[in-house]
Amino acid sequence: MGGIPPAVEVESSATNIMKNDVIYLDHNASTPCDRRVVDAMVPLLTSHHANPSSHQHRSGQQASSLLSDARHRVARSLGSNRASEITFTSGATEANNLVIKGLAESLRDRGLHLVSQVTEHPSVLEPLRYLERNGWQLTLLPVGLDGRIALEQLAGALRPDTVLVSLMLANNETGTIQPVAEAAELVHRHDVPIHCDAAQAIGKVAVDVHVLAVDFLTFSAHKVYGPKGIGGLYRRHHRPPIDIRPQLHGGGQEYGLRSGTPNVPAAVGLARALEIAGTDWRSDSQRIGGLRDLLERRIMSRLDGVAVNGAAGHRLPGTSNLSFAGVDGNALLASLPDLAISSGSACTSDHSEPSYVLRAMGIAVDLAAASVRISLGRTTTEGEVELAAERLVEEVVRLRAIPRRGHSPRT
Ligand code: PMP
Repeated sequence: MGGIPPAVEVESSATNIMKNDVIYLDHNASTPCDRRVVDAMVPLLTSHHANPSSHQHRSGQQASSLLSDARHRVARSLGSNRASEITFTSGATEANNLVIKGLAESLRDRGLHLVSQVTEHPSVLEPLRYLERNGWQLTLLPVGLDGRIALEQLAGALRPDTVLVSLMLANNETGTIQPVAEAAELVHRHDVPIHCDAAQAIGKVAVDVHVLAVDFLTFSAHKVYGPKGIGGLYRRHHRPPIDIRPQLHGGGQEYGLRSGTPNVPAAVGLARALEIAGTDWRSDSQRIGGLRDLLERRIMSRLDGVAVNGAAGHRLPGTSNLSFAGVDGNALLASLPDLAISSGSACTSDHSEPSYVLRAMGIAVDLAAASVRISLGRTTTEGEVELAAERLVEEVVRLRAIPRRGHSPRT
């Protein structure tokens, strides 16, 4: 119990979020729950607790109508006007598994070829590799130094037996934005469905399923100031329908696609979080982008040997992936207990190998190992950015002065 650091109310009520004494700059890993989201959810934990599938009584009907309302609001926030296009899941990992494995299985008579790209999140790459081990064929497109795929290479990868293309909208480590709408147009000309993992993009750039023209889109509440443990899959209404084989079998909830008692309070929280993202993303992104530029300016004006990875391409406003030549990224993190930042992807941070995302972009092993990811968010203040830049510069200077085998001290 005693290990929980104290939380203090943030001075500005505009953010509606609590903070503690560590400067939190790891918003791509997870975001704090917005107070407005919490307020929408909490009453539902003690009231309207009935199972939404219990249609026999009024309590169940009320829970069902809350779930249905949340589904409509989620659909609307993503630009869809059909609630039935939304399936709630436990998050983006489950939604990615559901669409990739479920679609591959249902279309196996049509073909066994899948296309994606090298810097996708593990929750896309691992289901694809699982399928590859089980008889499917996988083409992973390379990316350039800017982290983006080339559309000509996508066109060249499509085959008559291709049944799915999966392309993320924004990368979690570098913030690189892929040309999803252009890819969708190309892929549809070949009559192939396209899935987009938009978990990192929502709330930071415009995300509209019709503008992107994708058939499937996955999302997660905890990346957008909502609760953990809820996310979903958008599945475009097709005639004839594109079937997805369920991956969880049971009571047949969520249109038979995802069995298990629905989490009504979390679904309502997700709906609220997406609505707030829909109205605030432009002003949030403008402010956060300005802070990210300030952070990079402060660091680069005081240090040599700093590279901003992925800066050449289209990038999310709040993500800064920096390599500090001659410094081990993990050692740098260990020396900064007052900053919550990460090396590589938080989801693979147990592995000590340099980031596969940076390596795929052609960044040398030593520079990839010298990288940290800083991700700013709705609560980040200018004061925090100034302090974080100061601390990073201090520790990089200190670590560079310690002689390392094979490295000479930098001055
Ligand atoms: N896709 C991307 C791009 C992500 O960044 C993440 C979270 N790191 C996920 C999928 C998985 O999301 P969740 O935590 O909701 O399973």
